[in-house]
Order: sequence, then structure tokens, then C-alpha cells
Amino acid sequence: MSTPRRQIVVMKFGGTSVEDAAAIRRTTAIVAGRMRKGLSPIVVVSAMAKVTDTLLAAAAASGRNAREEALKLSESLRTRHLNAASELVTNSSDDGDRLNSLQLNIHHEFDALDDLLRGIAAVGELTARSSDNVVSFGERISSLLVTAAFAEQSIPSIHVDARRVILTDDHYGKAAPQEEAIEAALLQHVLPLVERQQVPVMGGFIGSCNGITTTLGRGGSDYTGALVGGGLHAGAIEIWTDVDGIMTADPRIVPEALRVKTISFEEAAELAYFGAKVLHPATILPAVQKNIPVYVLNSRNAENEGTRITATPPPCGSPFKSIAVKRKLTIIDIVASRMLLAHGFLKSIFDVFDKHQCAIDMVSTSEISVSLTVDSREALPAICTELRKIADVKYEGNKALVCMVGEDIRGQAGISGQVFSSISHINVRMISQGASEINMSFMINEEDVDEALRSLHRKFFANPDPNIFDAEPRSLSTNA
Ligand code: ASP
Ligand code: MG
Repeated sequence: MSTPRRQIVVMKFGGTSVEDAAAIRRTTAIVAGRMRKGLSPIVVVSAMAKVTDTLLAAAAASGRNAREEALKLSESLRTRHLNAASELVTNSSDDGDRLNSLQLNIHHEFDALDDLLRGIAAVGELTARSSDNVVSFGERISSLLVTAAFAEQSIPSIHVDARRVILTDDHYGKAAPQEEAIEAALLQHVLPLVERQQVPVMGGFIGSCNGITTTLGRGGSDYTGALVGGGLHAGAIEIWTDVDGIMTADPRIVPEALRVKTISFEEAAELAYFGAKVLHPATILPAVQKNIPVYVLNSRNAENEGTRITATPPPCGSPFKSIAVKRKLTIIDIVASRMLLAHGFLKSIFDVFDKHQCAIDMVSTSEISVSLTVDSREALPAICTELRKIADVKYEGNKALVCMVGEDIRGQAGISGQVFSSISHINVRMISQGASEINMSFMINEEDVDEALRSLHRKFFANPDPNIFDAEPRSLSTNA
């Protein structure tokens, strides 16, 4: 099977798009709109907003024997889901008592969750496997709720238990999907529904290994969306969230920030790594490999076209597409003792970080020194004690990494000069241009971030290419 099934659109709705009855109503209308256009949606939903965090807290409480605390958290979630159910679904439908059966299903799931929490509390130990089982209830229940809400509005929806389809290895907490097995399961359990004009609804994030529940890691629902879209060669994958897609900069800092209409997979991946919270890079890989466009869209502003992420973006008149920032970094300066850069010096430094499982963000070296940055400080005292055996070590927190991303900086001479002359009033440490050649990053003090972003934005997005960016910031265009 190589030709795309163009009419299939995988629509993934994040936690805020299903957070309450009002959000689920908006989501329902969006799906109905796609059907009116002749498309066949497959819907993937996250847990209702914050539910995963609450479930993790309940699991942790059980793990330390705080049974009542865990059950109380579960009770609050049960009430929240039942309230949404009775706002969205009735019993007066032609197909019988839809609300009664939804309520029964919700109770059934929460009863199972409570049993599990009691079991964990009895043992007093939370394993990764049990934790996955507990958190899976968020998507299991949200998908039941959304299926019923769709049916109430005459969408021929049908619930699919994602664990029958998203087959993974047994790496609990962050299981790896088995793409061939998933594709086979999709052809068996999901495609026939689509062919009968039904709308499959499944939870994101969850899967199974030999019948045991697993999860794909936090934020994993996007991954599910890409796996389903990739496996079925869908025409498009839509990631519905609560922002208008990818922006040229964080609009809370730069009010003139513009929506980026089209961006490449590589650019989106760089941005995600550097803190643009819209998408996690690895999650859309199954779509990238099959050349399926991914759209990031806003379920609160469904008319907005969002951002299209594609393998082959059109050429862009501006060198950069977007500026991202990663904050709360610490910079570590390591100077070799006795000015001696012995063979293996770098390796021995990296070995120390590796041993303490501390990830390094950025590295720069001179003849006698190495500077690197990390985003977690926990292991630093221990790391520094070890490093001081071979070098002089200093570290300093409150740093931020500014990352400017754009395919069109490839091979453009003089870009870095333009970047640094526009922020010449700001003290810049460590500069790097990644091997991908599509990002330029540098380190500044956190207190300088706002000023740097505004200056850079003024410099590089003053005359936005209308093919790639909105002509005006959203606040201007909506107030006009
Ligand atoms: N509900 C899961 C989480 O919050 C997965 C997701 O929403 O993508 O991490
Ligand atoms: Mg989420």
C-alpha cells in the first residue's frame, strides 16, 4: 500500500480540546465540519486537561500507602467525567439510553481504577508497569466520553480501544511502538470502520505489550496521531491544540509575533527541542517518513489555518522562521589543569556527565577550556566534585539559550553578523550553529531574553514573506 488514502484525516485533540463539555462541543463541531467536506476522520483524543497529572499523583499516593488520598483524587476525576457526560449526552435519543450506558461505562472504568489504586497501596510499591496502568485511565475514559458526545450529535462514532492497535515494547513509561504490528492492527480494526463511513475514536498515549497496558511517554497522544496517520497513509494529520500554530516568537514576549503558515519537519523538530511546546519532534516522525503533512490547529479558533508542517516547504524570503528560547540553564566552564589538554580530556569530561545521566545541551571548546550547558542542576555538585580532579570548574545559573531556526540560513554568508549586530547591547556567551545548519543558537542571561527577542524579531521579521507568514500579528488583525 503506497498511495495515500487522501480522504482520511487523523484528527488529534489535546487535553484542552476535551477539557470540559464546552470544549468537547467545539471538538464535535470541528469533526462534523471535516465530514461535511467529504473527509473521513479518525479521532485521537488526549485525557481531559490535567487528568494525567492527577492520575500520576494518585498513583504516587498509592505507592506510599496513602490510599485515601489516592481514592479521593480518583473520586474528583469520576465526578468531573460524569458531569461532562450529563452535560453532553441524553437518554432521549433514538438509539436508547445513551447517557445511562455512558455513565455505566465511566463507573466501570473508575471502579477498576480504584481497585488498582487499592492494590498498589496494599503492596506499597509503585512499579512503572502499574503507573502506566493507572495513567491509561485518562485516555480510556476521555475517548468513551467523546465517542458518546459525537453520537449524540449524529456523528456515526465508534470507540476503538487504542490498546488493541498501538502495539509496543515493554518499556513502561515510554514504550516504543512496533510500527509494522501497528499497521497490521490498523488495517484489521480501524480501516474497516472508516470504509463503513464510521468515525473511529481512540485514546492517544496508551498502547499495550502482550496485552499489558503501556504508555508512549508524556505528551504521547501526538505520537499516536502520527502512528495512526502514518500506518494508514492518511492524507493529513491534524494536531488540535489551543494555540494558532507555530509563531515567529512567543507572543507574550513579542506582541508583533506572526503565525508561521508553513514550516519544514526539520525546523519544527529543532523548535520543539528548544522549548516551543507545540509538538514533540520524534512524535511526528512516522508522518515525516511517509510525507504526510501535519497541521497544528487551534480548537478555540477553528477558522485559523494553523501551521502546516511538511517535508518540502516552499522557499522563504526570510532567513529565519522562528525564534525559540530555552530557559533555566546552567553554564559550566571547565579549564584543563596545568594548561594541559591531554588526549582524552573531552572524553573524560563527557564520561562524568554520562555517569550522572545529565544531558548536555550545548558545547563549545577553546584550546584550554570547554563550556557546556545543562538544564538540570541536581547532579551538578557531584559532577563538579569529580571534574575538579582533572580541571578547574565554575558554574553559573540563570542562563537562557536563544535558538533561531530557518532552512534558509543554509549557506547564507553574513547572517550571524546580522544577528549579533542587532543585539550588540547584550552580552552573548557560547555561540553555536548546529550540524543541521538550520539553527543558530547562543547563550545569554535570562534577564536579557525579552529584550533580545524583541530586537531580533524587529530585525528579521520586519518585512515578512506573505507566502510563509501572516501579514499582521493576530491581535492587530482581530482588533481591526
Ligand atoms: N495525556 C497525556 C499527557 O498529558 C498524553 C497527551 O496528552 O498527549 O502527557
Ligand atoms: Mg497533552
